Amino acid sequence: MNILDSKETRWWKLPRGGDERSLRSSEEIRKAAEFLRNGGLVAFPTETVYGLGADATCDEAVSGIFAAKGRPSDNPLIIHLGDASGLADWVEEITPAARKLAEAFWPGPLTLVLPHRGNLSPRVTAGLPTVAVRVPSHPVARALILEAGIPVAAPSANRSGRPSPTEARHVFEDLRGRIDVLLDGGPCGVGVESSVVDVTGPVPVLLRPGGISAEEIRRTVGSLEVDGGGISASRAPKSPGMKYRHYAPRGELWLVAGSPEEARKRINRMLEEARRQGKRTGVLTTEESEDHYRADVVVSCGRRSDPSSVARALYASLRRFDEEDVDLILAETFPEEGLFHSVMNRLRKAAEGKTFIPDDE
Ligand code: AMP
Ligand code: MG
Repeated sequence: MNILDSKETRWWKLPRGGDERSLRSSEEIRKAAEFLRNGGLVAFPTETVYGLGADATCDEAVSGIFAAKGRPSDNPLIIHLGDASGLADWVEEITPAARKLAEAFWPGPLTLVLPHRGNLSPRVTAGLPTVAVRVPSHPVARALILEAGIPVAAPSANRSGRPSPTEARHVFEDLRGRIDVLLDGGPCGVGVESSVVDVTGPVPVLLRPGGISAEEIRRTVGSLEVDGGGISASRAPKSPGMKYRHYAPRGELWLVAGSPEEARKRINRMLEEARRQGKRTGVLTTEESEDHYRADVVVSCGRRSDPSSVARALYASLRRFDEEDVDLILAETFPEEGLFHSVMNRLRKAAEGKTFIPDDE
């Protein structure tokens, strides 16, 4: 057996709807916090996706995260704090933009990049002078971090490259045998990761779109630059993680641009072709259009009229195609605004940029 797959993974279910205070006194949270303090790996629910946590001050514990995920070591991690009052312990300076954003969105799905004080494991920051920090709002996450009493480094709890986990069973599929504890708090509410904002300079820069829309961030700080992404290898991305293939199902994924009507026509034509080639086909759509496709597997990812429902269902939908062994997945696209901007960012990475534009025919 691979040495990495030899841990006993404990899967502990927590009561739904419990508040942070009652959770902190539960046996499960106390034991999980002890694992964290002793250098162990604990997966836990946050409002965005499940995180894979370790003590951010301990090199060995943080190395365990990279090993369990198979994550490239130049991709830094976000540290999670139980409340905003601890921020000054780990960052050198809280800039005015950082203060405004923390006041507006913490606890919540927003990550701030600030200069660090040098007291975290350098493995967390991948040697950068800055660290990414957030305060999650999920009661289980907060209870765990506060009980552990340490900053918790936590990327998404998936094998590197796979869709992020939004349910405990997704974590188990990917990391069974590689982590000590899986805290099961039910499905995640937001469904895409936090928005990452660099607040070190005069104008905040959105490095990764996420659970808080660019429009909301801009309204709070006045101006916001949006980083192009860093998929191209020719320039160093400001957010190292953004250069990697990500969120991808095993089948080949293509995005099909155009209005829902245009996409529908094009997708049905492509499906016919794929069927002739003997491929098992899938379509990623929404409730409004699910009846219009003739594919082996049609996955309805929320409602187009409700962007938050699409974000919430996105990763579980991508994983469905793996469960159904689909070879070719065709996905509708969404307008680049609000939460859909974050959804499109994930879909483009999952498809490695492969997009059909119907008007080009
Ligand atoms: P994940 O942990 O998979 O949710 O990804 C964390 C994201 O935050 C990645 O895109 C990282 O590149 C980014 N990130 C973490 N730390 C920093 C940092 N110090 N500067 C810029 N981006 C960062
Ligand atoms: Mg991730």
